Amino acid sequence: REEMNIIQGALELRTKTVEDVMTKVEDCFMLPSDAVLDFNTMSSIMESGYTRIPVYENERSNIVDILYVKDLAFVDPDDCTTLNTITRFYSHPVHFVFSDTKLDAVLEEFKKGKSHLAIVQKVNSEGEGDPFYEVLGLVTLEDVIEEIIKSE
Ligand code: ATP
Ligand code: ATP
Repeated sequence: REEMNIIQGALELRTKTVEDVMTKVEDCFMLPSDAVLDFNTMSSIMESGYTRIPVYENERSNIVDILYVKDLAFVDPDDCTTLNTITRFYSHPVHFVFSDTKLDAVLEEFKKGKSHLAIVQKVNSEGEGDPFYEVLGLVTLEDVIEEIIKSE
């Protein structure tokens, strides 16, 4: 029964983690902060179909901003504006969650308002050097809701 599936899904929010439902970093549509907002870049953003786009500096694991597609409303592709000019202007906060955060906890965070997207990271202490934050992917409210209403 559909209701039982939803209740089942809701109960699983306490045991499943964001890592179980996130979009992996290699599948994320992201842009470098020095990208030029010319016709080609604007087209690829529109074609991606995503509303929120993580912006990175130097490497994909270093996410510094989130671009909302609506931030592009006043951008003229002929001006060849640099992406970081736009992200600096709107300056949306970037929310991070640890990969082992349970889904009920992120759902609470998302319900508090602000953004419905968070960057998933973990502390990587493997290897020789100092531990560092590693970006694993991104998770949105949609991923959590999908977990509740998915029908098996
Ligand atoms: P909205 O529905 O608010 O317009 P959206 O369609 O861009 O936003 P969501 O509905 O929040 O995104 O998420 C749909 C799926 O796409 C989720 O699985 C989410 O993890 C994934 N997703 C969201 N943004 C990106 C992105 N920039 N790159 C890759 N996957 C993304
Ligand atoms: P997003 O969060 O993807 O940027 P949004 O903020 O425009 O989109 P939603 O988050 O889907 O919109 O909806 C937020 C609330 O605003 C909902 O209660 C919805 O019914 C309402 N809403 C959305 N679009 C409009 C609109 N054009 N006029 C009035 N209310 C709207």
